[in-house]
Amino acid sequence: MKPAFCDVVGNLALRNRLRDEILNGKLSHAYILEGARGTGKHMLALRIAAALSCEHASDASAPLPCMRCASCRKILSLNSPDVIFVNRGDRATMGVDTVREIRQDVLTLPNDVETKVYVIEDAHLMTSQAQNAFLLTLEEPPSYVHFLLLCESVAPLLDTIRSRAPTLRTEAIAPQEIESHLRRVNADAEALAKTSARDFSEIVSACDGSIGRAIELLDAKTRKPILARRELARDFVQLCSSRQSHAAAQRLLNAIAQKREETVENLNAILLCLRDLLLCKQTEHAPLCFFGNREEACALAYTFTTPVLLSLCDGIAQTISRVRASANIRLTLTDFFTEAGLL
Ligand SMILES: [Zn+2]
Repeated sequence: MKPAFCDVVGNLALRNRLRDEILNGKLSHAYILEGARGTGKHMLALRIAAALSCEHASDASAPLPCMRCASCRKILSLNSPDVIFVNRGDRATMGVDTVREIRQDVLTLPNDVETKVYVIEDAHLMTSQAQNAFLLTLEEPPSYVHFLLLCESVAPLLDTIRSRAPTLRTEAIAPQEIESHLRRVNADAEALAKTSARDFSEIVSACDGSIGRAIELLDAKTRKPILARRELARDFVQLCSSRQSHAAAQRLLNAIAQKREETVENLNAILLCLRDLLLCKQTEHAPLCFFGNREEACALAYTFTTPVLLSLCDGIAQTISRVRASANIRLTLTDFFTEAGLL
């Protein structure tokens, strides 16, 4: 079978489906690519565009796209006039004016190759009027035109749009795949994995299945506060587990209590950590969100009963609501620490 989209991580079923549709000339003229930020929608869109014009598409031994022919190189280096990225610029939504430009532009024949691919970024932020204006073009575009509508969720898209463009979902990627991909393609990742295996595995577990997010976190400046927050969450769970002194509890409370948004982030990290411990108690296989190392999580979970974990989750969730609702941060945290028997 001709290998396809080889540098796209995960999403194997989706890659195979696209390969078959492209090679059999069955590719729909429009798709919605739905997936969380960083799950590879842009990368996939660009490779679909390259595959449509690849000079080696009919060569069974070459991957699709081959990534080497003149057409692939031009498209993948973003230098092709026939792959058009449409975005909302610095506006909050994409309006009718942008759609009118697209409707005009599709009438011009492709420049270099036989197809024109429009990649519409943040399609979920198109206004209803813009979506309505887009319908006719989406229904009957010129034969050389393909539309790829990228969005984090299809929910804001009108049914009429969704019925004309099948939805392809990009999936969150398994931690092991993220690890090996990052080490293969990113020198910083390889260096970090060698110098600090723990920080590297923290990044992988904090990126929520998103390669894009993992790459952001490889930047030391972005990484530092996130790793510090995760350390704080671990310290909190350790404190609950081993009942350390009041002084230790007070130090931790001081570290959690920051500006409002930061405090909420700190509490959310604790909640995520506690949820992992609950999951460890329920099942052996559910993927964990906080801990990169399941053994560490299970060992910690063993020190709690399920009712205690549930009550801590409940307490943290209520504390988050109160902090968000402008309550006094230090007082609210002190109440929670006292109720949890830590102070
Ligand atoms: Zn090619």
